Amino acid sequence: MTISKNISEYIENTKVNKKFIKWNKSTVYLYITEITTATNLKEYYYNEVRKGITTWNKVLSENNIPIKFEQTETAKSADIIIHWVKVGRVFEGMCKYLSIINNEIKKVSIEIGLENEYSGKNTTNESIFFTIMHELGHSLGLGHGVDIDDVMYVPHKKNISKPSENDIYVLKEIYK
Ligand SMILES: [Zn+2]
Repeated sequence: MTISKNISEYIENTKVNKKFIKWNKSTVYLYITEITTATNLKEYYYNEVRKGITTWNKVLSENNIPIKFEQTETAKSADIIIHWVKVGRVFEGMCKYLSIINNEIKKVSIEIGLENEYSGKNTTNESIFFTIMHELGHSLGLGHGVDIDDVMYVPHKKNISKPSENDIYVLKEIYK
């Protein structure tokens, strides 16, 4: 993998009002709310979220990007709260910036879709993993990618296992 020749488009997708948005702290605390729907797969889903956190942390540290995620046990102490929602027809996940002050991200809400009778989509371990990878990318300040191998490409590809060179390149630009 090399950097896309369309990387400037990825950078443009990432900027908000011509500037990057980012955390101004080295540890971002994340709280995973409980799944309240009747599914016997809860533990698998929580696990996929933890796997997403671990995968991002590994990439961030390997690339000397000075930020990491850490799970916290209370919503109160969290910067990012992960909610489980009954997915609509169109999305599997959503990242909402609840507070951005002077281009600093202060509070984020991530929604992960679970199936319902109308969605026409089944939740799988893979869909949870790719959704959390993508939404955590947004939570770090990334916009949408340009290559199918980018975690931030939409619609997400289902067999990526880690962020692409493009994803890493843009993150380094944000956090340099
Ligand atoms: Zn997205």
